[in-house]
Amino acid sequence: MFAEVKVYCVPTPTHTVQRESQEEAGPNFFFDQRALDSAHRKQKRQQDRGPPAKRRPPPQPRGPCWFCLGGKEVEKHLVVSIGDHTYLALSKGGMVPEHVLVLPIGHYAASTDAPPEVLEELGKFKSALRKYFNSKDQSCVIFERNYHQSQHLQLQVIPVTKIPSDALRQAFIDYGWSMGVWLETMPRETPPSELAYTGVPYFLAEFDDGGNVFTRPYGRFSLQFGREVLAAPLVLNLPNRINWKSCLATKDEETKAALEMRKNFEP
Ligand SMILES: [Zn+2]
Repeated sequence: MFAEVKVYCVPTPTHTVQRESQEEAGPNFFFDQRALDSAHRKQKRQQDRGPPAKRRPPPQPRGPCWFCLGGKEVEKHLVVSIGDHTYLALSKGGMVPEHVLVLPIGHYAASTDAPPEVLEELGKFKSALRKYFNSKDQSCVIFERNYHQSQHLQLQVIPVTKIPSDALRQAFIDYGWSMGVWLETMPRETPPSELAYTGVPYFLAEFDDGGNVFTRPYGRFSLQFGREVLAAPLVLNLPNRINWKSCLATKDEETKAALEMRKNFEP
């Protein structure tokens, strides 16, 4: 059974937002309704064909992918830790020094596409990172953007000042409300496959208490929604760190930061 989520289309945020990865290339920063319709049609075709006979190998990227660990484009100096199915890397243009990404090694577009072994290891990384940041008296927000032609699943993990999960959740809900986006609070530990069909766009943020907020963006929805919430005065108060391009460091600085994160996180 899929949860009902109310979503309202909204005007464009008044401030400028910028793209964050090659997935965001192109002049349109916002999710398009046509992509949703196409995903619905694809899902219907899959349903008509019936269940797959057996699990398929990971899908191949349509073109160069910066996040497939075996690919030529991946920036290996940002990698912090590698598991069997997933890996941890420093975010390029992160909001804060230990802003990291957890990603599958293979090419899966979203949590709703990933097989159980990938989801299980993503969960282990999330728990370990929460433990790590909590030990430093920090809270941790983890969000996934699966819209605007996302190609490779990325969990954005951002440490913030110690703030109760309820307050962080409310910050997302309030900011969403100000932008005309309705964020639903879902039951804790809801599997991604129960939030949305494969191929259906969504935004999901999770907090230290296991709770989350979720929306399926229809119409215009800011690509930088998660960063915009966290940049607000009540959370990080870093309005100049919304645009990842304003946060870029040199390769030497990135290498040093990844080594530092590895040294601190590995234990
Ligand atoms: Zn990929």
